[in-house]
Amino acid sequence: MRYAETGFNLEIDLSRGSIERVETDPRDTELYLGGLGTNAKILWDRVPPEVEPFSPDNLLIFSAGLLCGTPATGCNRTIVSTISPQTLLMAFSMMGGFWAPELKYAGYDKVILRGKSPDLVYLWINNDKVEIRDAAHLQGKGAIETAELIRQELNEPKAQVAAIGLAGENRVYYASIEQGRSSASRGGIGAVMGDKGVKAIAVRGTKDIHVARPAEYIELCNEVLEYIKFRQENPIPGVIPILSVLGSPQEMAIHDEQWHTENFMWGNARTRRKGFWTEEVEEEWTETLENARTRLISCYNCPLKCGATISMPGLPTYMMKCFSKLTYTMAAMSNLDFGLTIAQRATEYGVDGYSAPQVMAFALELYENGILTDDDFPGMPPDNEGRFFWLLDRIARREGIGDVLANGTYWAAKEIGNGAEAYAHNTIKKHEQLPLKLSMLNPVYFLMYCTGEKINITQIQGQFPQAPFPEREHREEFVKDWFQVPDEKFKQYFLDWEPRGEFSNPYYPTVEMCCDIVDWHERMHYIDDALGMCTGLSSFHLKPPYHIHNFPKFISAGAGIDMDEAKLTQAAKRYRTLVRAINIRRGMRRKDEKPPENHWKKRFPELEKELLDTYYKFKGWNNEGIPTKECLHELGLDYVSKDFIQRGILTDGEDAPSKETSAGKERE
Ligand code: SF4
Repeated sequence: MRYAETGFNLEIDLSRGSIERVETDPRDTELYLGGLGTNAKILWDRVPPEVEPFSPDNLLIFSAGLLCGTPATGCNRTIVSTISPQTLLMAFSMMGGFWAPELKYAGYDKVILRGKSPDLVYLWINNDKVEIRDAAHLQGKGAIETAELIRQELNEPKAQVAAIGLAGENRVYYASIEQGRSSASRGGIGAVMGDKGVKAIAVRGTKDIHVARPAEYIELCNEVLEYIKFRQENPIPGVIPILSVLGSPQEMAIHDEQWHTENFMWGNARTRRKGFWTEEVEEEWTETLENARTRLISCYNCPLKCGATISMPGLPTYMMKCFSKLTYTMAAMSNLDFGLTIAQRATEYGVDGYSAPQVMAFALELYENGILTDDDFPGMPPDNEGRFFWLLDRIARREGIGDVLANGTYWAAKEIGNGAEAYAHNTIKKHEQLPLKLSMLNPVYFLMYCTGEKINITQIQGQFPQAPFPEREHREEFVKDWFQVPDEKFKQYFLDWEPRGEFSNPYYPTVEMCCDIVDWHERMHYIDDALGMCTGLSSFHLKPPYHIHNFPKFISAGAGIDMDEAKLTQAAKRYRTLVRAINIRRGMRRKDEKPPENHWKKRFPELEKELLDTYYKFKGWNNEGIPTKECLHELGLDYVSKDFIQRGILTDGEDAPSKETSAGKERE
């Protein structure tokens, strides 16, 4: 009997039109858990570095996390993994909502797509019956519209549908996969789905998932529910509203946007608008949101309500989540009304709410500076809002300048030339980042930005506060019930952290402390992404209900795998290292591991070098960021070092010089 997981994957070859139900190896679950962990193992085994993102040999894996479909609150993430057309590295994007539990109830842990369909199709997974169906009539349709049409066509209102819009069909490098109240947006995975000729995957499942020790498991779930209630009733004082309570984050519930609008950058991530948040703005934006928001909504099995249905006058209803509430507004230097209106079209097209607005603001900056001219924008309206709509349409259709912009700021700047590269200033590993420009280097964030392979800062921040609290008294209060820490030393790190003086950034936390903190953050994110847990109840949040002390119990009682903190830490390190190995094999090296040049005004090259040197060593990586033979051996990944040695990435000696492989390098 397999517990928590079904023990079966669906393997679909789109070129041949074949569908197989394949039993998986339970030993892989013990070693790599599930979700991201087992996805990484499959990508390592089956997608060599020579495979390009749009090759039929690239895989697109939809995986339910290990504990999805069990009663664990908020455990509903689908982890989608592939090789990204934008970064040329491994992409792993998560979506909440309802799809992953439904897949489990249909009897599968993963759907693995390979090959390419000659015609546009959609997949219909209805328990044991799986079909590849014609989707010609859905060509060009919006992602939300498609989901609705498929449900009607199948006469199955309960089917969960993950779909792409026009952007995915046209292989826009930052195309998303939309699904109900959620989306998997980062890394251009929607473009790979479009390239494979798959418009949507609809799932309906009515089977059971077995849990190893039900009574114990339910007890653990109840403890989590009780703690969520406590945390919602007792917000953490002195931190920004979205971090004071749980959620992912609760953008759609709150009205106070002072922190984001005054600290994040507007336009092409350049302009900080201090004093923007006045009473009038607050009133206007509150009214806009109250009128637009028809209701707050949750993901599967979660008492929180992080998303919302949005109905703008004259437009179909759509669902909005997280920070995309503000990204279009701020990129266009406009208001919330505009942001919520354009987001409807962007959701139907299926584009990433972080990258798309930034690409458009970048294009307009190039225009204002004469690098692009009127000839590039024939018929573009004169007003900023109109320009954004105009650009969005062209990007989704890959028309004219939109075809260049559809590749993201990094690739577009290269193609445009004439100094455009200086305007693509906010990417890491070729991928657009949050529009943040700060003053003093934050050493913890420096390391997360450099080495995080999710390549998305919002997905790597964690349970250690982002900034010191000004008063020691307040810090003392904070650490009193901070039981989530993996080690008591973190409390001391935080207690001594001051906003100014000797114990402040950039030299405090010290280099060694930074390594500990980043490692903790990373470990928790990787655990979430294997189990299918929402980061809003775990790794992203201060004092969350899930943490390193109760996760092993969930895995033991749920999946029947004998687990403790040390074993879980080791498993997370194993597949985290495997993700790095995939990227190293694709050519990623130390030179790629840097934050946007202008992210902080005050930089400290020597300290930054020391941070990276020390962190690499701490992780068991050599000076190029390549996992060493020793480290790989300790994790049971000797097959990786063997491959590295064959490819000349490592030699039999210790810290071997690296040799780049093909795919991670620049495209011609
Ligand atoms: S906390 Fe929010 S985003 Fe996370 S599962 Fe619950 S409703 Fe979804």
